[in-house]
Amino acid sequence: MTDLYRLLPEEMEEMIIELGQPRYRADQILYALYYKFPKSISEIKQLPSIFRETLVEKGFAIGSTKEVHRVVSKDGETTKLLLNLQDETPVESVLMQYPPKKMFGHPRSTICVSTQVGCAMGCVFCATGQMGFERNMKAEEIVGQVIHFAKILSDKKQHVTNIVFMGMGEPLANYSETIRAIQLLTHPRGFGLGQRNITISTIGIISAIDKLSEENLQVGLAISLHAPNDKLRQWLVPTAGKESVKELIDAGKRFFLKTGRRVTFEYALIKGVNDSIKIAEELALLLRNNGSHVNIIPLNPTAGELKRPSRNNVIEFERILYNSGINCTVRVEKGTEISAACGQLRTDVLSKYNNERN
Ligand code: SF4
Repeated sequence: MTDLYRLLPEEMEEMIIELGQPRYRADQILYALYYKFPKSISEIKQLPSIFRETLVEKGFAIGSTKEVHRVVSKDGETTKLLLNLQDETPVESVLMQYPPKKMFGHPRSTICVSTQVGCAMGCVFCATGQMGFERNMKAEEIVGQVIHFAKILSDKKQHVTNIVFMGMGEPLANYSETIRAIQLLTHPRGFGLGQRNITISTIGIISAIDKLSEENLQVGLAISLHAPNDKLRQWLVPTAGKESVKELIDAGKRFFLKTGRRVTFEYALIKGVNDSIKIAEELALLLRNNGSHVNIIPLNPTAGELKRPSRNNVIEFERILYNSGINCTVRVEKGTEISAACGQLRTDVLSKYNNERN
């Protein structure tokens, strides 16, 4: 089966011509896929029924996602979905909305997508890391998550404004499918989102960061640093190399020089682990004059031992960085009451399901 969402517009055209159809059929399909969100080929009414049948006979289909669980935060701004992929594998995707800047504007609607089922990186603070790695997702499965939310938003006359690759999995460990998904989502004849409205978040696969900087893409890059020294970082990210801190800072510099896009360093702030004044000062020393931006993320509690720091600690940590001339922000907390930590909803729902069965 070939999912039509896998095909780039040029590939769609090639396929159409091979099937002896006029070139404009490609645009009819693309329009339907990205503006009408059909669940099956039979719903693409712009095509003659005989050609729809041919597509099905030739093994084409639309591999839509199925919503199996939905939680919405109390303020209504965060929606977290558990979506079943075509093979019934559940993955998480999140919609985060931010109020419009102008009185009658649209809200900013950011979709956080997953790129792998589970993750091999094993970060100790992450529910996905604790479930282990199952498989890479295909580009059409990544796109399918965005399409699912795009449909929900279009019913409310809203649209997707940003996409962050920050859900389950390490996007750069699934490199070629992540890049294909970005091409599909940003192609002017595809989903058409601006490349600058996309951010890839990575735990730091150095060779892949360098490769990404050569792709001629204008996407943003966020590197999850989480510690200013290798000893602490290796404890938090057990798969990190022995000198990962310096390597990541250097990779961030190279990415900036090559693409002109400022790199964000993400820092999950964990109570009693990496939130002390001494560590804040060490981080400030490391990043001083680096020109990058630090995004402090107070830990979303998972079922484990690790805890979120107090509000005062977060403010103090930020103050130390700020006073050292480092550009930093604290991530706006969204939907912490709805299992917002990456991988947590899937873990919660699956364990509830298993408990009910036992
Ligand atoms: S934080 Fe990211 S890289 Fe680390 S285990 Fe979780 S999903 Fe994987």
